[in-house]
Amino acid sequence: MRKKQFKAESKKLLDMMINSIYTHKEIFLRELISNASDATDKLYFKSLTDTSIDASADSLTIRLDIDKEKRTLTVSDKGIGMTDKELETNLGTIAKSDSLNFKKENENDENIENIEVIGQFGVGFYSSFMVADRVEVVSKALGSDNAYKWVSEGVDGYTVEPCEKDERGTVVTLYIKENTENEDYDKYLEQYTIEELVKKYSDYIRYPIVMEMTSQVPDPEKEGEYITEINDETLNSRVPLWRKNKNEIKKEDYNEFYKQKFFDYNDPTLVIHSKTEGQATFDALMFLPKNAPMDFYSKDYEKGLQLYSNGVLIMDKCPDLLPDYFSFVRGLVDSADLTLNISREVLQHDHQLKIIAKAIDKKLKSELAKMLKKDREKYEEFFKTFGVQLKWGVYSDYGMNKDGLKDLLLFKSSNGGYVTLKEYRDRMADSQDDIYYACGESEEKLALLPQCEAVKEKGLEVLYFTDDVDEFAIQMLMEYDGKHFVNIQKDDFDLSSDAEKEAAKKKNEDSKELLDKMKGFLGDEVTAVKFTNKLGSHAVSLAAEGYVSLEMAKVLSQMPGAGNDVKAQLVLEINSTHPIAEKLASADDEKLEKYTKILYNQARLIAGLSIDNPTLFSDTICELM
Ligand code: ADP
Repeated sequence: MRKKQFKAESKKLLDMMINSIYTHKEIFLRELISNASDATDKLYFKSLTDTSIDASADSLTIRLDIDKEKRTLTVSDKGIGMTDKELETNLGTIAKSDSLNFKKENENDENIENIEVIGQFGVGFYSSFMVADRVEVVSKALGSDNAYKWVSEGVDGYTVEPCEKDERGTVVTLYIKENTENEDYDKYLEQYTIEELVKKYSDYIRYPIVMEMTSQVPDPEKEGEYITEINDETLNSRVPLWRKNKNEIKKEDYNEFYKQKFFDYNDPTLVIHSKTEGQATFDALMFLPKNAPMDFYSKDYEKGLQLYSNGVLIMDKCPDLLPDYFSFVRGLVDSADLTLNISREVLQHDHQLKIIAKAIDKKLKSELAKMLKKDREKYEEFFKTFGVQLKWGVYSDYGMNKDGLKDLLLFKSSNGGYVTLKEYRDRMADSQDDIYYACGESEEKLALLPQCEAVKEKGLEVLYFTDDVDEFAIQMLMEYDGKHFVNIQKDDFDLSSDAEKEAAKKKNEDSKELLDKMKGFLGDEVTAVKFTNKLGSHAVSLAAEGYVSLEMAKVLSQMPGAGNDVKAQLVLEINSTHPIAEKLASADDEKLEKYTKILYNQARLIAGLSIDNPTLFSDTICELM
């Protein structure tokens, strides 16, 4: 019989499995059982609407068998089965494109062992080849009269041929490898190892996992002697983790469950396990991941929680259970209030589901608030990864959710570290009317802004907005506890006393001719050139006039389709007490033009904006030097 070749990518993955030095080879069993369970799930679903399908207890059972002599371990189910075509497509190619993408990205990085891929994704059926040198899959699909056998001994390919099988379902037989110097494979032929592995990885599988167990029991007829008894035993407790009592569950159980189910190789930052009764009755088990999933920022990412009805999975990612600002949350909800064969469309309008979603939103917020209060360090770690989502949450939907989220926000502060809005508010001086902020690329750069220095010198705190969304979110909030947010980079921001203001006004009036000339040199680039006394010891700065701030203009101009429609109106501010002010007053027109352009370009650079002609800028400076 002609051997068929694996698809190139599958071959690669398979090769990786066969030669793997992965230390947790044992996960192969979890993968096979999980496939058997999925196949049984599918059958069960069908039986709900098709009464001709046999979904008796016997057909909803997964069996494990060991044959030490033949060195085989068998996993059998009476689930939906596979046709010959399905055997080819499902086992001949690998659907786990994610794991392969990951591999490609790191192809040149020797240090990233493929181990991580295995750990992260649990590569499914192919993991059998970590412990077996020959794998046979015999399957008979639901509704088909013919059975087929798929056989492979590794990368050289596989065969599919018709065979005999009475019952519907799939039997996977692994021919366990011989022991090597470094690896004990014999253990996978021991019933206690298998029993242990089922308990460890597959305990909550809904269907009984049954194995024939041999045990020695006292002989009732002959005292002191033992007889061998052979019984079928169910190895798994079948109680899903989330249905167990919280005090029966160890932290490791949660972590292990999370990693397996949500394909993460890090423990979660936070586990939220809740049982809710009342308007809606449901169990929820939710996790905050440590890192964003790989596809989190791609458009392929789908938010949602798994939805179970009484322990039966009805939807893998139910988006209606999570608001967008919590899209990073992984987990599941199990409720007896939902009917099993509910369709997606109906579900969307389900009243019960809406109540659950609301309760979940509330729960997540309160858990985050608790973490913020009790474990600041951990919260800050969380916020670094996902805080931007919360900020977008404040901004989006016309600010509909801002009140529930505002106290979960953190901002960098000129006092160092992160600050909540409440903390900022609480330490504001009585005389301080507004909450000050400045926008820029990084806290380091912001700290150096002339305006920031001047405000800090007065002993006041400035919020550093370093995320694009910050200012948009704050505009949506408008105020916090009666205090407005004020951008210190705005032209009309001025902390000086009345006398100082008067002096500045006079200086500008007296210098009108000079300033008009300078504005003339810059054309449309600026709306005005002004003297100011709010720059501390620095010579120049740019400020924005009107609604659009410098940072917003920067962000908006980067959005697709925005073009140059949104421009900030810029004011070039010159420190009236700086020696440069005198230089300007005494310069002839030719010099003044050069000085003006240099000052303007310097101010642009300080504000984090690019300059049109850096070469000319440099040449002019050199010329003057
Ligand atoms: P995954 O289960 O994550 O999709 P696998 O490589 O483990 O990836 O399996 C590939 C596919 O083979 C499955 O999606 C399923 O369609 C099919 N399959 C595997 N095992 C069985 C089984 N016991 N019964 C029916 N189909 C199966």
